[in-house]
Amino acid sequence: MRRAGLVVAEIHQLIRDSVKPGMTTNALDLISEAHTKRSKATSNFKGYHGFPATICVSINDEIVHGIPGSRIINDGDVVSIDCGAIVDGWHGDAAFSVIVGAGNPEDQKLLDVCEESMWRGIAAGKNGAKLSDIGFAIEQYINSQGKYGILQEYGGHGIGTEMHQEPHVLNFGRAGQGPEIVPGLALAIEPMITRGSSRTKVLKDDWTVVSADSSRGAHFEHTYAICPDGKPFVLTAIDGGKADLGRLGVEISSLL
Ligand code: MG
Ligand code: MG
Repeated sequence: MRRAGLVVAEIHQLIRDSVKPGMTTNALDLISEAHTKRSKATSNFKGYHGFPATICVSINDEIVHGIPGSRIINDGDVVSIDCGAIVDGWHGDAAFSVIVGAGNPEDQKLLDVCEESMWRGIAAGKNGAKLSDIGFAIEQYINSQGKYGILQEYGGHGIGTEMHQEPHVLNFGRAGQGPEIVPGLALAIEPMITRGSSRTKVLKDDWTVVSADSSRGAHFEHTYAICPDGKPFVLTAIDGGKADLGRLGVEISSLL
């Protein structure tokens, strides 16, 4: 899973380095597809329930599951990229949002809040915690930062020999509920928030999820595991989550 996670991390870096106003969303998919091939990995997105590309690209009021195509990325757009990879049957899955070109402070705050809530969720999902401690930490942090809509119909998930496995991980809720988090468990944590409503619609393409009130959204995701030493490791982060979890007082595993 670390090898798959690193392929995903590298695709993220390549897209971050190349995304510019004037590009099509399809051009970003080609970058992802080429790196997947070069890494001798396969895509767990392309062909997933008929999804036609190796990444999801969702712009502005689109929050997740946007399909790459001929749409041109404009200066100031909030672009959310979600992708995954399979190596030797093991899956990685991660997402990030970025402002292309000159953004505004409100959008930047939206992204910062979403990303930090993901890290708080991973930090809360430690060995011995209960599953719902993750969503509780995510929601608490987001609500402490202002008025944001937290998507309810979509959430994180178990991951391993399939991209989506049990359990479903809510991005909200009470603490102390659900199964215990134990070594060997791997989860994808992925808060999705908007600057407005938590309600969403699915576009006619049957994939793209947009906010009901057209407010802009953000999406961050990492895949992490609890290692046999009881410590977490973020499989889709180049540094394993050392910097961001360390900042939150959580030491990552040294087994990987
Ligand atoms: Mg994903
Ligand atoms: Mg996911």
